[in-house]
Amino acid sequence: MMLWQWDNQTEQWQAISLQPGKPFSLSPHALLLPLAGERCGLMVREEVIVNGLPSLPLHMLVDRDEIRVGRETVYFSTESAAEIVLFAGQGKEISCGRCKGKLKEEEASIQCPRCQAWHHQTEALPCWMYDAKCSSCEQPTAGISWQPESLRRRSGGWEYDDQKE
Ligand SMILES: [Zn+2]
Ligand SMILES: [Zn+2]
Repeated sequence: MMLWQWDNQTEQWQAISLQPGKPFSLSPHALLLPLAGERCGLMVREEVIVNGLPSLPLHMLVDRDEIRVGRETVYFSTESAAEIVLFAGQGKEISCGRCKGKLKEEEASIQCPRCQAWHHQTEALPCWMYDAKCSSCEQPTAGISWQPESLRRRSGGWEYDDQKE
């Protein structure tokens, strides 16, 4: 799961990945509590607007919820991006979900963010990208399928691109 935050510098949405068990603070009085199973709580002690309505002190977020804290609007998404990492070893043998070959330490690999299955992702063994979906679940291998609509600069702030005058 991830949080989308508008970056005024690059003028693009930036995805911040949320790790279960690691709280993420939106403001001094609004805290995201990512949980296992792509669930995320929102704890607030000030006015926070979720999908246009004031949030309860504890709110369970669902996919694509819009959260407004002060003048900032962010989005919650249950999607997760797959990241290439150098396989660090797990203390036991781990096989690639696609080719069933062993993963070696320091080898470029991708762990499916949805089902946690490991895959090679090297030039010789592009196992993750080999197919449109993960070997073991429905996770698409080609990046992220949803992100918020882009904003454009307006005097005094930002608004959605499609709101033409
Ligand atoms: Zn493989
Ligand atoms: Zn998977």
